[in-house]
Amino acid sequence: MILEPQVNGSQNQTVVIVGAGQAAGQAVASLRNECFEGKIVLIGSEPFLPYQRPPLSKAYLAGTLPLERLLVRPSAFYEQGRIETMLGVTVARLNLEAGSRSVETSDGKRIAFDYLVLATGGRVRQLSCDGASHPRLGYLRNIADVQKLQGFLQEGAELILIGGGYVGLEIAAVARKRGLKVTVLEAAPNLLARVASPEVGRFYRDLHQGHGVQVHCDSMVSLISGSVERPTVRLQNGSIMTADFLIAGIGLIPNTELAAGAGIACDNGIVVDDHCRTSVDGVFAIGDCTQHPNGIYGIRVRLESVPNALEQGKTVAASICGKSRPYCQVPWFWSDQYDIKLQTAGLNIGYDTVALRGKPADRSFAAFYFRKGRLLAVDAINRPAEFLLAKTWIAKDQKICLERLADDGISPAKLPVEASN
Ligand SMILES: Cc1cc2nc3c(=O)[nH]c(=O)nc-3n(C[C@H](O)[C@H](O)[C@H](O)COP(=O)(O)OP(=O)(O)OC[C@H]3O[C@@H](n4cnc5c(N)ncnc54)[C@H](O)[C@@H]3O)c2cc1C
Repeated sequence: MILEPQVNGSQNQTVVIVGAGQAAGQAVASLRNECFEGKIVLIGSEPFLPYQRPPLSKAYLAGTLPLERLLVRPSAFYEQGRIETMLGVTVARLNLEAGSRSVETSDGKRIAFDYLVLATGGRVRQLSCDGASHPRLGYLRNIADVQKLQGFLQEGAELILIGGGYVGLEIAAVARKRGLKVTVLEAAPNLLARVASPEVGRFYRDLHQGHGVQVHCDSMVSLISGSVERPTVRLQNGSIMTADFLIAGIGLIPNTELAAGAGIACDNGIVVDDHCRTSVDGVFAIGDCTQHPNGIYGIRVRLESVPNALEQGKTVAASICGKSRPYCQVPWFWSDQYDIKLQTAGLNIGYDTVALRGKPADRSFAAFYFRKGRLLAVDAINRPAEFLLAKTWIAKDQKICLERLADDGISPAKLPVEASN
């Protein structure tokens, strides 16, 4: 049987994608899968084809994964798929007037489009205290950041990590494996305070301390000083510490300036609907830079996760090809530290109860988050079965018997649930 390609009248159309990260990489592949026949132009500031960021704080930082393995697809894919790539090129301006719709690059080129996809991601939030321009204070978002840090990751060197979130803690784990002396400073009373329960935060504190990391919570940095080669950190409580280098991991700022400058609605992200459509017809946005609705929770969110970037990449391709495939999924995320895999499903915003299944001391447990009896989220630590089950339960809004859920003697396959709502 010979299958005729489905041609959908898109031959003469152009899609321009701004940003060449993981969301954009998925969007170009999905556009071709959806039989978009027209021209696709992928423009990215970094000099690399779309690559995965998660290994930047894991295997790539550890030096066990070569650069080529970061790429989401090999370069042949873009050639075969007739994807025009413009790498190391920044889009400086959007022209959205009918008849002259185009993007302008910082080197003065103008590229016309029929559809525009903004996949501009985010940039690291920088420390704002005095001395934050110290040359030995680094951040980690890009391949270039890791390449800059590699020279400092020497056995015996002293590293202070500012911020006890996932990225900071993953760097701490890699640095300990490479024989550095590591201190983590966290302004909140617990590690992972913005995203996880105190129980999970305490587990990670014990885990890192067990691996020789000095962990200080309630420790807000107020000043960075010292010599060029030996920065000194002063905390608000008056303590002073020195190290060979510092890395701050204190969050992300979505790259919305380009969109906002063109009059596209932004509010802690580029505002999109569940088809990734912005407030301007024919202009879409995907990935970390979007603020989008989540139908399962009935709220608008901005997510920083690979699954979100990939799903929005698929959704935007369907939308451009005239298919209605609204994005409505349970958010999920993972983090690898030492031999511990955390998998999170759902959003725990506004939880009132945490039910633990298994014991943190056994390094294998799950924390289930509920609000008014409704399961919101799970943090599953070395518990893949519980992660998968909870993801399904959240999607179905399944009622759960809390007491029996917490009974670790009942195997995951037989976990009790109650009739759905
Ligand atoms: C160290 C680290 C570890 C992570 N670990 C995990 C993990 O374990 N699990 C997980 O789910 N997620 C993880 N994440 C998050 C995940 O990598 C992001 O959610 C994902 O990369 C988002 O993809 P994106 O395409 O939306 O944005 P990005 O990957 O940020 O890509 C956006 C690209 O757009 C470019 N750009 C911006 N403006 C312009 C412009 N005007 N012109 C041209 N180009 C532009 C940027 O330079 C960038 O290359 C991690 C992130 C980091 C940094």
